[in-house]
Amino acid sequence: MLYANLAHRVGEHNKKKKEVPILGCRDLKGWQQVGRVLEVDQTPIGKTPRSCPATYVGFWDAIRRLFAEVSEARMRGYTASRFSFNTKGGRCEGCEGQGIKRIEMSFLPDVKITCEVCGGFRFSPETLAVRFKSKSIGDILAMSVDEAVEFFSAHTSIHHALRLLQEVGLGYLTLGQQSPTLSGGEAQRIKLVTELAKVRGDNTDAGGRPGRTGTQRHTLYVLDEPTVGLHMADVEKLIRVLHRLVDAGNTVVVIEHNLDVIADADWIIDLGPEGGDAGGRIVAQGAPTAVIKDRNRSHTTRVLAEFLAERSV
Ligand SMILES: [Zn+2]
Repeated sequence: MLYANLAHRVGEHNKKKKEVPILGCRDLKGWQQVGRVLEVDQTPIGKTPRSCPATYVGFWDAIRRLFAEVSEARMRGYTASRFSFNTKGGRCEGCEGQGIKRIEMSFLPDVKITCEVCGGFRFSPETLAVRFKSKSIGDILAMSVDEAVEFFSAHTSIHHALRLLQEVGLGYLTLGQQSPTLSGGEAQRIKLVTELAKVRGDNTDAGGRPGRTGTQRHTLYVLDEPTVGLHMADVEKLIRVLHRLVDAGNTVVVIEHNLDVIADADWIIDLGPEGGDAGGRIVAQGAPTAVIKDRNRSHTTRVLAEFLAERSV
């Protein structure tokens, strides 16, 4: 509801600036300060199964340009587009750049096999002959994020995005890992990294805090139960990313029952007193340490008080 109301009012969603009735509440205040609203969910990254971390986060173009600058590529007249697995030209046409082929079997699920033409490297032999620091473009796609962080250490923008993926615990993914093989939690963290990659650490404001680049506006992120299906360790990583988005000057609204997330919030809005029809009213709000002062106020304050007491032991 919050997302729908804001989306109708804010930024790119409302080019026509037309009046849209507010849903489910009487008024919406302060939305003028929000430049953009984005829901970050666990649906697959990108519009096609061809999407992968490298293309989605956006550093793949920079890698393709590096390959096009290699003298071997220049001699052959290859441009950056030659190193795309999405378009014809340099990719393997045996598998259309996918590296795998799907075989339909009657009465059985499809079977995926490695492409016999390129051996899973996704490009034509001529394209693969171009080497950057002795790796082919196919080798790069098969590289894990952890390996790539080392490999691209001298290339600031690529390195920055890769480091972010590593920091949110996705160092084990390969750069070319295809969207359908990613879990919902992985997809969600890749989306958050894509947002974080837009924040430039070197762009600090007068107070020394990380600021936004000129084109970036205050974004309000909405996440609906992001910890569903995540392991404990991954919840911690998720919380760290959310903090970084806030540190960069954005707002993060999380709808959540997970106490680790609730305890880490700057501000809690507790809706109750019960679920569903018996709820919907604000029963408590404030910083975690403040709302638990009256621990019998709601179900949340009670369990949160216990949780914080246990955690401080
Ligand atoms: Zn192939």
